[in-house]
Amino acid sequence: MALDFTKYIASVRDYPEEGIVFRDISPLMADGQAYKEAIGQLVDYAKDKDVDMVVGPEARGFIVGCPIAYELGIGFAPARKEGKLPRETVKATYDLEYGQSALYLHKDAIKPGQKVIVTDDLLATGGTIGATIKLVEELGGIVVGTAFIIELKDLHGRDKIEGYDIFSLMEY
Ligand code: IMP
Repeated sequence: MALDFTKYIASVRDYPEEGIVFRDISPLMADGQAYKEAIGQLVDYAKDKDVDMVVGPEARGFIVGCPIAYELGIGFAPARKEGKLPRETVKATYDLEYGQSALYLHKDAIKPGQKVIVTDDLLATGGTIGATIKLVEELGGIVVGTAFIIELKDLHGRDKIEGYDIFSLMEY
């Protein structure tokens, strides 16, 4: 029988600030069967797309993206915050509620024409995944899909990445 993944998500009120309900995937990761089945469904999604590389943003994008890449026998490239990648990088900025942030990819992380899936634990406003997509495309990669454990519908992240295929295991 299919697992009800929502049982493995902890909803934490007023974190990181008042009025926010934080959706925490760590109980899902802590349960071997739930983690394996959740990643398995994302792998099935990626398999259909004949993908060459997986890219995920720091830090929970690694928890989701690395096992997908490993299972498919393809590469994973980390999109990281300022000062974390040692070699030449490309940069993409995105808006936060107050101010801006930036993500970076190594310049040789993606080869032109490679098909890429971008992954993260959660799609909220879409800023983080939008910046990750920009980085991949700046290097000539083709984003063939995006995959998440959770999508927060009310924050309309989908609208920010309109035109890209989106797969999420759960919606809130
Ligand atoms: P966005 O850029 O607004 O789409 O926010 C998504 C990013 O923020 C992802 O990298 C998430 O890991 C993180 N994030 C935002 N809200 C939550 C949450 O409720 N739980 C876990 N991560 C979150």
